[in-house]
Amino acid sequence: MYNGERLIERPLRWGMVGGGRTGQVGYKHRTGAQRDGTYKLVCGAFDLDINRGREFGINIGVDSDRCYDDYKALIAGEAARDDGVEVVSIATPNFSHYEITKACLEAGLHVICEKPLFFTVAECEEIEALANRQGLIVGVTYGFTGHPLVRQMAAMVERGLLGDIRIVDMQYTHGFNAGDDTNAPDAVRWRTNPKTAGPTFVLGDIGTHLYYLSEVVLPHLKIEKLLCDRKAFIPSRAPLEDHATVLMHYDNGARGRLWVSSVNAGNMGSQRYRFVGSKASVEWSDSHPDQLSYDVQGEPNRILHHGMPYLEPESLAVDRMGGLHTEGLGDSWANIYLWIAQAIDAKRRGDEAFLKTHRYPDIKAGTEGVRWLENCVRSADAGSAWIDFQ
Ligand code: NAD
Repeated sequence: MYNGERLIERPLRWGMVGGGRTGQVGYKHRTGAQRDGTYKLVCGAFDLDINRGREFGINIGVDSDRCYDDYKALIAGEAARDDGVEVVSIATPNFSHYEITKACLEAGLHVICEKPLFFTVAECEEIEALANRQGLIVGVTYGFTGHPLVRQMAAMVERGLLGDIRIVDMQYTHGFNAGDDTNAPDAVRWRTNPKTAGPTFVLGDIGTHLYYLSEVVLPHLKIEKLLCDRKAFIPSRAPLEDHATVLMHYDNGARGRLWVSSVNAGNMGSQRYRFVGSKASVEWSDSHPDQLSYDVQGEPNRILHHGMPYLEPESLAVDRMGGLHTEGLGDSWANIYLWIAQAIDAKRRGDEAFLKTHRYPDIKAGTEGVRWLENCVRSADAGSAWIDFQ
């Protein structure tokens, strides 16, 4: 169980770009980063609306002279200080991730960026090379993968408890965009415009969460072939999709099925994962993150609870609340932020041996998400054809 004891040398001086008063995801970053005293929020350019951003920053305890008009002013202002920011989180719409990440890395700052990381794999590879040259970390906030029962599933697969993996079945759907966009808020408008969202809507917005979680649970499975069928039920969203189905063939012979949709009217089920092996299956949903269904063929089905001593050590090590009490999304984000902080701390200390085995959503994870999106679009554009995964 993790009790909040400091795991890094000292707290990191942390700033945010985006994530202000109107931002949907900003609070998740702050609750994750500040949970364990691992990060200290010292500055921000929180909003496109400069005054609202400054007022917001002051209200959450940031000095007014460190609430900046934009990310360029933040980088310049902080570079002039002895106690300047060391790591910046980027919680802005997708199109700005690349330029802000690049500017931060060039200024010697570690970056924690939202998904989908960038628009193209080429951009990801360029940024990875830049981060390596600068000796800096880029983390990606795949915020659902810090749940202890995700680690449990990965450990069970690794120990062979499921047998050979045969079927990967994943779903992330909701109905928030079932209506048209006549009165849609900004957060929907930028998501349905290729200039601001990139080459996909729901595939990038929610599908990348499914894909990364499957990589965490099944790190040795690689996709060989893929077929993607995508559709905009609300025509104004085309060429982007508000609904997609992806079929996947893995290199071990396993078959995958993934469904993402924001027009699943009335659905609040969110995410569901079922990993099926030759001996048993596990099934988990972020709607009930404390429970894991473990179904052994020929035996009564079991519900495993987080924090219980019968779980694998990898799961218990990242549990925060203990078995009797609810563990939720905020705890998962706190784990993600902690793991990224440990990577930054190790980088600062030059501890490459630690970094070799330390697991956190890194730039490669962000890149693989973008690679998967590129393959999905290539298949869809070819008339939903089976394509070799590249
Ligand atoms: P949003 O539209 O709700 O908020 C974006 C915020 O960023 C706004 O407050 C806006 O004023 C601000 N902003 C935009 N450009 C800026 C800039 N250049 N400088 C400073 N501030 C700027 O968007 P959102 O839903 O919060 O999504 C933001 C990002 O987070 C997206 O990339 C999205 O995919 C991602 N996201 C991730 C998760 C997750 O679970 N990891 C959840 C939601 C959103």
